[in-house]
Amino acid sequence: MKKIIIAIDGFSSCGKSTLAKALAKALNYGFVDSGAMYRAVTLYLLEHKISIQDLRGVEKALASIQIRFQAGAKGNRTYLNGQDVEDKIRTMEVSEKVSPVAAIPIVRRAMVRQQQEMGAEKGIVMDGRDIGTVVFPEAELKIFVTAAPAVRAQRRFLELQRKGHTVAIEEVRKNLEERDHIDSTRADSPLRQAEDALVLDNTKLTPDQQLQVALDWANERMEAQVL
Ligand code: C5P
Repeated sequence: MKKIIIAIDGFSSCGKSTLAKALAKALNYGFVDSGAMYRAVTLYLLEHKISIQDLRGVEKALASIQIRFQAGAKGNRTYLNGQDVEDKIRTMEVSEKVSPVAAIPIVRRAMVRQQQEMGAEKGIVMDGRDIGTVVFPEAELKIFVTAAPAVRAQRRFLELQRKGHTVAIEEVRKNLEERDHIDSTRADSPLRQAEDALVLDNTKLTPDQQLQVALDWANERMEAQVL
């Protein structure tokens, strides 16, 4: 069967990465968490004390940033310049700074270029905010994931707790709201549902149930490629 590109977009903490990972595994496709790339850039700027107002500094930083993903015993890990930064990029500190960084056009251009290269051979599931609209507007399957805000905050809160981060649920809720606001109102590639995206509301679905819905869609689209 011909390989396709599956683009998954949606607001923060809707379960996009969970779905993308499971779909990629089921289809034996590659998986790219594009949010991890913006988080890695944010971490680099924080660690090197580069202000987002300093666009020259940001540009220089981008030239020395290398991001790659590697699957291992501990799951899919994000590497920044050869270092495993998976845990560091998931902290609240990075979550609070990432959206303004992701709104900078030169940052987006650099990330989008790499994302397009990663999908050049197809057979990939990528999740983010602008995958179906900007990165792969020709993707054969676009899914826009939604979930009730209270459910999203609760899921992210439990995920952080599981990873040993102490944080108040109110802080998590506020961060999701702020990121959604910045992500959907920025001038450069704002988060929006692609016209040809299929909406998947997973408020009342288990991860397995949402995977089944998406797998049915993916199989339909893959079969359509053969005809
Ligand atoms: O997916 P995740 O919540 O980890 O993404 C972190 C942030 O990265 C988002 O809030 C958004 O600001 C940015 N992002 C983006 N475009 C993408 C993926 C993520 O702007 N394709």
